[in-house]
Amino acid sequence: MDIRIGHGFDVHAFGEGDHLMLGGVRVPHARGVQAHSDGDVVIHALCDAMLGALALGDIGGHFPPSDPRWKGADSRVFLRHCAALAGERGWTLGNADVTVVCERPKVGPHAEAMRDVLARELGVGIDAVSIKATTTETLGFAGRGEGIAAHAVCLLVRA
Ligand code: MG
Repeated sequence: MDIRIGHGFDVHAFGEGDHLMLGGVRVPHARGVQAHSDGDVVIHALCDAMLGALALGDIGGHFPPSDPRWKGADSRVFLRHCAALAGERGWTLGNADVTVVCERPKVGPHAEAMRDVLARELGVGIDAVSIKATTTETLGFAGRGEGIAAHAVCLLVRA
């Protein structure tokens, strides 16, 4: 097989703070997130998609929340690690597609910046990285404004 598919999903509850990190971009918001790291759901979902494609477990196994090294960590470190694991095994990102789920903040105005950060971190063209967003029509935890979620799929191809 010269392609591998992966899927990832992540949620963080809102908490104290005045911004979110989404796709490596600082997005001003009335809330922050409760997280051990910087709580970047976009990067966490994307990491899990890449680890899934590699059948190498999940982000919690590679970066345990119990490990003080990852307290407040910039999630781009996790993404670089996943890209390195792929590269060592002869894989590179073909493309990735991420959907952010929340009522607020509005993701659209930040999507291009997020694509740019993620593409640079992964060493691919920006056209290989998609960021989309949806609300849940006020239903569920996202709809009630209790937190934020992200889904990601990726395709790895032979480098
Ligand atoms: Mg997470």
